[in-house]
Amino acid sequence: MICIFCDNKNEAKSIEHIVSESFGNKIYVMERGKVCDVCNSRFSNFEKTALANTVFIMERARFGVASKKGNTAKGKVGQYTIEGNKEFKRGYIKIDGLTEEDLDQFDPETGVGKLLIKSFDKSEVAASKLLLKTGLEAIYTSQRKIYEKYNFQDLKDFLSTANNKDWPFLTSDYEVVKYNSVPKFTIKYYLKIRRCDLKFYQYNDETLLFKFKYGSIPMVINLLNRNLNWIKEVTEADNKARLFPEHYRSKILKKL
Ligand SMILES: [Zn+2]
Repeated sequence: MICIFCDNKNEAKSIEHIVSESFGNKIYVMERGKVCDVCNSRFSNFEKTALANTVFIMERARFGVASKKGNTAKGKVGQYTIEGNKEFKRGYIKIDGLTEEDLDQFDPETGVGKLLIKSFDKSEVAASKLLLKTGLEAIYTSQRKIYEKYNFQDLKDFLSTANNKDWPFLTSDYEVVKYNSVPKFTIKYYLKIRRCDLKFYQYNDETLLFKFKYGSIPMVINLLNRNLNWIKEVTEADNKARLFPEHYRSKILKKL
């Protein structure tokens, strides 16, 4: 088999999960050898960070989803340690490292306040890489015609080396037009009941958008390059849209 990321001929021993097992996926996987063991183990490094040190950990904890090794979801964002219920009950999030000062508008009488936790804590590159990896594997497996239309060279280069250059993504649920589901039929349904939604939209020749939504967190990334020309339209239409890494926001503003 030839690895779709590094083109190396290989006899892989490992199975590559398209959507991480720590989101609850057991069956949507790559054909063995389509991702070599070297790429697979490189991917698990950023996957770990993206699952445990971003806003994804809040959702994984809230949904009581077990990790790949069958443990309670646990991670750290900023100074907070976030953990799900030990018995995998839904709706519980345990946050350690929290003081009253961390709460905005805290009312001592009711004990209610607002907690602001960063969505990403220097974990943006890991999140970008996880989105790109998931996107390409899903398109390859479920939308082969789309896969064959492009060479995805920038994406492959980015994931096949230790290169940590930023690749921008957006958190937004706005759809310029209706996106199409990447997986079809039973896989689409299987992932949907695990709260995973994978969609794509061909915006133009240099922009193939991939949207990954887990629970209430929608993320959109361009699988072809770091081009930002699609971002303006979405951010103008959706005032909740946020661009990451944050330094890209000033680049967009300069363009306007
Ligand atoms: Zn490879």
